[in-house]
Order: sequence, then structure tokens, then C-alpha cells
Amino acid sequence: MWDKPHSVAAANYIAEIKNSKLCERCGTCEANCIFKAISLGDTKPEIDDSKCMGCGICVVNCPANIISLKHLERENIPKDFLELGMKIGREMD
Ligand code: SF4
Ligand code: SF4
Repeated sequence: MWDKPHSVAAANYIAEIKNSKLCERCGTCEANCIFKAISLGDTKPEIDDSKCMGCGICVVNCPANIISLKHLERENIPKDFLELGMKIGREMD
């Protein structure tokens, strides 16, 4: 897996923790993020902005409902499949 998959494609969103004090430290978010973008941290869940794809899997699975998606504008969203394929090809060189 690429270290930074969002270098080729990602949503215009990124995960953020709304109120970390309510975190139950269940580990569901960390276990379900296939991009390894969220971790429990020492005291509160932490999101690695450089890895988060904005997929929302952590949002819908958090039992404490404390993760949301923040809108942002990324400049690297491919316009079509051709551009996506070319970006992936460049990454794999
Ligand atoms: S899924 Fe929610 S409650 Fe569980 S560790 Fe992650 S942020 Fe905390
Ligand atoms: S939005 Fe997706 S990529 Fe980002 S932390 Fe949540 S599960 Fe991981």
C-alpha cells in the first residue's frame, strides 16, 4: 500500500474528532481504517491528515458518534479515469 494514497485520489473531506473527551477508546476507528490514518494515541484518537482519504468509514462506525467529516478542497482529485490511471502509474514508477 502507498504511504500517501490520497496523492492519487481522495474525497474533498477529511475526518476530524469533534469531542475527544467522549471517546470510549474502543479501537473501532483504528481497526477499520484501511489507510491507517487514525490511531488511538496516548490519550485521544488522532488523525493523520496526510493519510486520511475522507472515506467516512470511521464516522459511521464510531459508537460515541464523535467523528465527522470536514469539507476541504483538494487540488489533486483526478478529472477522469485516464488522469487517475496516469497518476497511479507515476506513483508506482
Ligand atoms: S471509534 Fe470512536 S469511540 Fe471508538 S476509539 Fe475511535 S473515536 Fe473513540
Ligand atoms: S475518513 Fe476514512 S481514511 Fe479518514 S480516518 Fe476515517 S476511515 Fe480513515
